Amino acid sequence: MEPASQGPGTERALLLSTAPPNKQQKLVAAGVIALLLGAMLLVAPFARNELKSTEPLVLAYTASVFTTELVTAALLLSLFAIQRSPALLVLATAYLFSGFMAVPWALSFPGVLAPMGIAEAGQQTTASIAAIRRIGCPLCLLTYAMLRGSRELRPGRLVPALIVGCIVSVAATVVGITWFIFENQELLPHFTDDSGQITDLWMYVPGVALVLYALLVVLLGLFGRSVLDLWLTVVICALAIDLFLLSFLSSGTRLSVGWWAGRLYSLTAASVVLLVLLAEAASLAARLARSVAAERRAQEARLVTLQAFSASIAHEINQPLASMVTNAHAGLRWLARNEPDLDEAGAALARIARDGQRAGQVIKGIHATFSKGAQDHARLDLNPLLREVLDRYQHEFRTAHLTVQTELDPDLQQVSANRVQIEQVACNLVTNAIDAMRSLADGPRVLLVRSAALDGGEALVAIADSGIGLPPARADRLFEPFFTTKASGLGVGLTVSRLILEAHGGRLWATDNAPRGAIFQFTLPCDRGPHPAAEEPVR
Ligand code: ADP
Repeated sequence: MEPASQGPGTERALLLSTAPPNKQQKLVAAGVIALLLGAMLLVAPFARNELKSTEPLVLAYTASVFTTELVTAALLLSLFAIQRSPALLVLATAYLFSGFMAVPWALSFPGVLAPMGIAEAGQQTTASIAAIRRIGCPLCLLTYAMLRGSRELRPGRLVPALIVGCIVSVAATVVGITWFIFENQELLPHFTDDSGQITDLWMYVPGVALVLYALLVVLLGLFGRSVLDLWLTVVICALAIDLFLLSFLSSGTRLSVGWWAGRLYSLTAASVVLLVLLAEAASLAARLARSVAAERRAQEARLVTLQAFSASIAHEINQPLASMVTNAHAGLRWLARNEPDLDEAGAALARIARDGQRAGQVIKGIHATFSKGAQDHARLDLNPLLREVLDRYQHEFRTAHLTVQTELDPDLQQVSANRVQIEQVACNLVTNAIDAMRSLADGPRVLLVRSAALDGGEALVAIADSGIGLPPARADRLFEPFFTTKASGLGVGLTVSRLILEAHGGRLWATDNAPRGAIFQFTLPCDRGPHPAAEEPVR
């Protein structure tokens, strides 16, 4: 036998015909079998008591079994259409056969539609149909058990043709068997005597069927592979109890307590797989709804990231571009003088070149922020980095009339980080501090940049200003994308900064400064490795 072809793993894990049962499912199935056995023991003492005039209920019973088995077969056929396993087709055949055979069984049952069944069927007709049904079903189930490992069929027209072929051939077989039995009464074995009691010949039927059931319990129960196999084991147990009640406990007395209890077991057997299929379908639908919702959320998140990405490019590039334009104008003015000042013009050009380089680095940094894993980390000292950033803003500090103070911890350990990104964070925080103080009407304008080593191996950087302070009652929204209180703000600087720091294992938060202004603080984990030369890329 060839091994089953491996479909996509997730699909197999979801289908109850392929998913292995979990512990809880096994416990529930064992519990159901125990209940079925317990109920049989309760019924056993009364099994032979006759329940007279209950013939009309036989039709109701048959209608229930017929409907249940046909719906189960339809669901199994739709499962076959998805998984294309020949074993499922055979299993659906078993349910179709059992459901169809129930019809002639009820029609020939003495006292249901006519005293001797329709067309004077006679005593042996019902028993013969029952015998064929009782042996035919476990034989189909055995075929199912043997075919479980076989190769799945290729998708194509063959699958619908097989489904139609299966329904037509089972219906034709049942019609053929029924016709033969009704037409050849004299050839039928004597399974019952004239009073309707079973004969010794009948005992071969439960004998053979119970052996087949035992084989099936071993194959599906002990060597079962799927949730479906587990519940088929329960079905087989219910069928075995039904046969035991009918043939032994009630001594084959039709319409006795034992006989009717057997009908209930038979109905249970017909319903088990249907209930499990319906429960699985409901839980699949719920899982599907959850995963669609999750996918939608992920899509929205991707969209926000994309918007944040494009907005952050604009935000981070605007600054060096504005500075380049200012310097270009300054350079032009130095050159346009009667006596061009080449030194000043050269200095302006150098600043333009520096800003251009910075813009390029910012683009690289933003790309690194949003692309997974491509982070170029190096060991770096935060103090020189902070001094460099402050140096870059000298011109802005002058024009905004700010005093800059630093309290940098000389013993600060190195951190392992992406230099461009951390520079970007520091620049964002310094720019925000300048903006917050520029709009002040009076009072001192002081920018304090502090670094310190924290217990627990972290480096802390605090950028404190004496500006307008955090927007009241909205401090929790500062880090949300596109939150801004500035006329020309974009509201992505703090979002990107927090993203960068969190990607480095650090944090960023804001508090009020006393007596006025705001403090933005961030931490980065210190590098714990051996101390080679700083700025050496860590691989
Ligand atoms: P943007 O600077 O474009 O507005 P940010 O994400 O950098 O975007 O800042 C978001 C908001 O946080 C600002 O609009 C401002 O309201 C507030 N904010 C940031 N830094 C400070 C600060 N130092 N003082 C007061 N408010 C600040």
